[in-house]
Amino acid sequence: MVFPPLCHACRAFIPGAGRLHLCPACLRDVRSIASPLCTFCGVPFQTPGGMDHPCGSCVISPPRYSAARAALSFHGVARDLIHHFKYDRKVHLARPLTLLASRALTPFVISTGAELLIPVPLHRRRLWERGFNQAVLLGRPLAKLWGIPLVVDNLRRIRRTEPQVTLSAAERELNVRGAFAMANPAAVEGKRVLLLDDVYTTGSTVMECSRVLRKGGAAELYVVTLARAVAG
Ligand SMILES: [Zn+2]
Ligand SMILES: [Zn+2]
Repeated sequence: MVFPPLCHACRAFIPGAGRLHLCPACLRDVRSIASPLCTFCGVPFQTPGGMDHPCGSCVISPPRYSAARAALSFHGVARDLIHHFKYDRKVHLARPLTLLASRALTPFVISTGAELLIPVPLHRRRLWERGFNQAVLLGRPLAKLWGIPLVVDNLRRIRRTEPQVTLSAAERELNVRGAFAMANPAAVEGKRVLLLDDVYTTGSTVMECSRVLRKGGAAELYVVTLARAVAG
């Protein structure tokens, strides 16, 4: 056996590991993002029940994409798995993470009619340091599953940016401003594009990518992320 049946998150032995390799306790901690949520940015509302509708901040300043959705709430076990995947080079975690993402996101992705899947790029220096782009690793199996071509060489990060983690929303926006460019805008012209990233925090990165892709002539822009920061 390549992997012993241990929980990816807590290393507990799980005889009936299934495809996810998460023990029941860890799996219970993984929260999917569900309706009611903002029809644009996908933020879930705290009050249960009711219809999806635009949130206050999307009404005040409509996003540059048509809609964004995330699979999981970025906390607890889900956050730990994403951190291990990204920063501790546990690339095998791409498998449970894409399984969790596909379960939650497939109906939305089908509804978008997306023609291209574009992972948010890393700067080549960051790529060299990390050794992989987490969004590309997630994108490969998801592109296959969704039957959408994965395009990794068109959208590029042309400027090295500070890590966003400690920055405020306004600082994040400034930090990524002008950080992306397209190698071949003609390839997205008139196309319905699906952007993929690991975590949606304030949306500044995908917003800036969306701006560049729209300028390049993309007809529609949608965003999917593995997880989303959720208040409370
Ligand atoms: Zn566990
Ligand atoms: Zn919103």
